[in-house]
Parts: sequence; structure tokens; C-alpha cells
Amino acid sequence: MSRREERLARNEAFFRELNERLEAVTPDSAEELVVVCECADEDCAQRLTLREGEYEAIRAHDTHFVVAVGHVDMSIEDVVWRTDRFEVVAKRGVAGDVAEDLDPRNAA
Ligand SMILES: [Zn+2]
Repeated sequence: MSRREERLARNEAFFRELNERLEAVTPDSAEELVVVCECADEDCAQRLTLREGEYEAIRAHDTHFVVAVGHVDMSIEDVVWRTDRFEVVAKRGVAGDVAEDLDPRNAA
């Protein structure tokens, strides 16, 4: 994997960890969850509003990330779910491996 790919993957994993914390502090009764875009642009801090259950559906897969519409980096990921509020991408190859390694839910 190139340095660039690794940096992009780590950046996305960082935002995923932040979103895990946002989800943790959001009451279960809340119908919406505000998360930050998990795209590879380290200057992007766009907020995304997910409906109940959507974030869990995305996080059910180690290699899936939620990003704002148009924030997909086709060199490292594929769109697997598209809505008018967000897109969900799946990491390809080695970028996917880093995403799995850095998944806080995989910590032993
Ligand atoms: Zn973004």
C-alpha cells in the first residue's frame, strides 16, 4: 500500500472513531444521529444526519464508511449505498485491511 493510501485510510478510521463516540453519547431514544463525514479529506468536517438504525447498518461492516454525497474517493473505495443525504463506501484491498485493523470494535 502506498503512503497516500495508508494516510487516507487512517484519516477515515479517525473520523469513524469520533463517530463511535458521538453515537455513544446520543440517547437510544433519539431518532437522528449527527455524525461527521468519514471521507479521506482531512480538512472535511461536514456533518451528516442519519436516521435511527442507519449508522448501525453501516457499521455492521468493518470496511464501510459514511461520507457526504460527492466525497467518495474512487481510487480506494466503491459506493455501496447512496441516499440524498449521504453515501456509504466500501474500502477496497489494502485500504480495507487497514480499516479492519483500526476498527475499534475489533479490539480484543
Ligand atoms: Zn467529507
